[in-house]
Amino acid sequence: MTEKEYKEFNYPDFVDCLKSNSEILPESLSSDILHSAVGISGEGGELLDHIKKVIWQGHCLSPDYVKKELGDILFYFTLMCNCVGTDIDGVRKLNIEKLTKRYPDGIFDKERSVNRDEEIQNGSNKR
Ligand SMILES: [Mg+2]
Repeated sequence: MTEKEYKEFNYPDFVDCLKSNSEILPESLSSDILHSAVGISGEGGELLDHIKKVIWQGHCLSPDYVKKELGDILFYFTLMCNCVGTDIDGVRKLNIEKLTKRYPDGIFDKERSVNRDEEIQNGSNKR
């Protein structure tokens, strides 16, 4: 790209053309999935910030605060479960199946962690 082409390039229009609109989910479901994903991330960030303060800023670990944030995460986790038609038991069962396949002896194994061969199809993503 030349300097002239760069200066004339309309980046906002470029982004607008490349953005993907959901054609799979109804708008209300897309909103709930986004809400829950943002919520899980945000509440996870609050928990992470507390741990940061404990590790690097001399704060005391507050089990009550951790429980409160876990509750907030649980709220958004449950909202996401509702969106995809499962519940905590369904998620737990899937997780147990994944981890027992990865660690059949029921013990963490660094080699198996690094060289994973299982996959759960989720679009084009693995793990
Ligand atoms: Mg919170």
